[in-house]
Amino acid sequence: MRKNIVAGNWKMNTVLEEGVELAANVNDALKGNKHNCDVVICVPATHLVPVNGVIDHETLGLGAENCSEHEAGAYTGEISAAMIASTGASYCIIGHSERRQYFGETDAQLIAKTRLALDNGLTPIFCVGEVLEQRENGTYNEVVKSQVEALFCLSSEDFAKVIVAYEPVWAIGTGKTATADQAQDMHANIRGAIREKYGEEIADATSILYGGSCKPANARELFSKPDVDGGLIGGAALKADSFIGIVEAFD
Ligand code: PEP
Repeated sequence: MRKNIVAGNWKMNTVLEEGVELAANVNDALKGNKHNCDVVICVPATHLVPVNGVIDHETLGLGAENCSEHEAGAYTGEISAAMIASTGASYCIIGHSERRQYFGETDAQLIAKTRLALDNGLTPIFCVGEVLEQRENGTYNEVVKSQVEALFCLSSEDFAKVIVAYEPVWAIGTGKTATADQAQDMHANIRGAIREKYGEEIADATSILYGGSCKPANARELFSKPDVDGGLIGGAALKADSFIGIVEAFD
């Protein structure tokens, strides 16, 4: 059966000392307690190596927030999937709406990033989600389906390694959460598209996370839905207590 996963996305927050302290606090709070989900933190690239040094991988997975679409070479300032993997990280967020919106990342670039992440042994956390206008004009199911379909050039073997995160853009950092029913409907839509392309077994095994103002107070209801397999957590991942509160929603 598919895994339940709670993953934090720290975005461009915390300086090194704060980030290492937060990671150590999350790790310590999780250690020794059996939770019914995998827990991952995706941290700024500058923090990967030192954070890797203070966490216990049995307890807490480590990921990056982005990787380059290029393998290596003259791309000043970029960070490759191989570099990320060499830090000890095992996950990489790809296609977060902030990257699509502010950095103009296209489906073609996101596929290239996904392939490089996979080639380097990283698990992609591939983000999809509609903007408010698309929610309001009723096109949201098609929009998100087509974002997921961009990945359908992957082989079954590769697609089976991907985690999908549905993050309605209007709910990210706004305090406005999708209702559990809205999340369930979209997750079922995404799983249906995966089933059509890759069949029942892969569709059933794919973890689909919800993201968008998820917090301890609403996580339990969201995660109780059959197609919601956990969360990608922004703001609430920046405090160990609230992040652990979300993890505990699976207990
Ligand atoms: C995110 O950016 O992935 C996210 C879900 O943010 P927030 O939880 O702050 O809405």
